[in-house]
Amino acid sequence: MYDVLIIGLGAAGYTAAVYSARYKLSTFIVGAEEGGMGMTAAEVGNWPGDIDVRGPDLMERFKNHALSFGDLVTHKIAWVKSIEKIDGGFRLHLESGDTVDGKTIIFAMGSSKRHLGAPGEEEFSGKGVTYCATCDAFFYRNKTVAVIGGGDSAVEGAAIVAQVAKQVYLIHRRSDFRAEPYWVDRVQSRDNVTFVLERNVAEIVGNERVTGVKLDKPFEGQETLAVDGVFIEIGSLPSTELGKSLGCALDSKGFLQVDGAMATTVPGVFGAGDVTSGSNHFAQFATAAGEGAVAANSVFNYLQSGGKHEGGHMA
Ligand code: NAP
Repeated sequence: MYDVLIIGLGAAGYTAAVYSARYKLSTFIVGAEEGGMGMTAAEVGNWPGDIDVRGPDLMERFKNHALSFGDLVTHKIAWVKSIEKIDGGFRLHLESGDTVDGKTIIFAMGSSKRHLGAPGEEEFSGKGVTYCATCDAFFYRNKTVAVIGGGDSAVEGAAIVAQVAKQVYLIHRRSDFRAEPYWVDRVQSRDNVTFVLERNVAEIVGNERVTGVKLDKPFEGQETLAVDGVFIEIGSLPSTELGKSLGCALDSKGFLQVDGAMATTVPGVFGAGDVTSGSNHFAQFATAAGEGAVAANSVFNYLQSGGKHEGGHMA
């Protein structure tokens, strides 16, 4: 039986593995894909110590660090189908049919992209509609695209796509942006980006592929903007299914509720990164890494104390 089972191969999970290995805890870390949301960051300018680094490069370094502890860390790419409580801990059921037992769990599954729910979105998904502007920008060289949203994902995405696309429409439902002013300035400095503000997308239209986005109100006299691609970047939904199945409580926004020690409401189960209510829901490499460190420290304390947790749950 492992000391800790970490589910999720992103910044939070790998950091938790680094810390748990240094605590000499036998660690099993598993996830469906390596790198998590960090892989989608084309340029990371806020990871302290690196003025500019690509997300995939940073995640490769996180992984290599976690795997540098020899037998203490077992790393597996696999989908975790379900979890059950067993005597003295928990059992993971992998899609392959294999099972893995551990005394504690750290949930670090991150989140998945939110969908808009507009007519045409599902029909043209993969045919011009995508959910990662930074990942797919390359396919839209010299094309016209729409990026939807006003947070970091949308505005960073628009800045990256604008480097290759002919024309970018940044469509946002308000006139203020949640995104870092750094990214807003970057986008504003491009003459191939048009801000389409106080507008919603009513429909995504096309034939074989996307040909345009229909707005709820005309923009400069046009009801439909002709585009070759639509990047939907309107936030993410935490991947809480496994946590819910164990009885972990969620906060009012649907994230895994954790206290200051990153403990969930189920003894022996901790959380870290974008899936949790921690760090005021601010999803960053720095906060994910911090939460991963705290979660591993809490696992260490929990095991040393024979399964006691003295943290108090935050609302
Ligand atoms: P977010 O911060 O939740 O922003 C989502 C944006 O989409 C908001 O502007 C929101 O509009 C808009 N939106 C939501 N639902 C909508 C709908 N149904 N129709 C139209 N617009 C809708 O999401 P995010 O940008 O993906 O960022 C998520 C987290 O990841 C944040 O903590 C962010 O800091 C982090 N992140 C950071 C970076 C970076 O540091 N470079 C990059 C990517 C993500 P309103 O503003 O009107 O609510």
